Amino acid sequence: MEKGDAYPRVKCVVDTCTHYITGDYCSAGNIDILFEEEGRMAQTIEQTMCKTYAHASSVANMIGSMDNVNWSGTMSHLFTGDQVRPTITCVVSSCEYWADGNLCVAEAIEVTGRHANECQDTNCQTYRKKQS
Ligand code: SF4
Ligand code: SF4
Repeated sequence: MEKGDAYPRVKCVVDTCTHYITGDYCSAGNIDILFEEEGRMAQTIEQTMCKTYAHASSVANMIGSMDNVNWSGTMSHLFTGDQVRPTITCVVSSCEYWADGNLCVAEAIEVTGRHANECQDTNCQTYRKKQS
């Protein structure tokens, strides 16, 4: 999918993540939304997580995260105030907003887990269980 208005805005409050930018933005190029327990599809918000989370206090994490930075979006955000947003790869197929190709078709998502210490402390707050 091309970057543009066709993919969700991302609001994230996880202020301990190396990708977090003040104003509740995410500077990652792409984020991976997963279910927490291997082999068990998420049924609730708490069972989802942002796997791209990396704790900002770790130098190794900061260096490791450098190849997944949305540089153009971040620069544009800094200079013009444009919203910076990553692309999303989501494997939580039990969610109402999930689409083939591991896409998220929500207009916007919110990642929660302020003060998180590990990715399991984060959630996709926008998760809504698919009614089948
Ligand atoms: S927790 Fe995920 S969405 Fe939030 S800033 Fe980190 S990588 Fe981005
Ligand atoms: S809203 Fe649903 S499909 Fe979109 S990222 Fe969150 S869990 Fe995945």
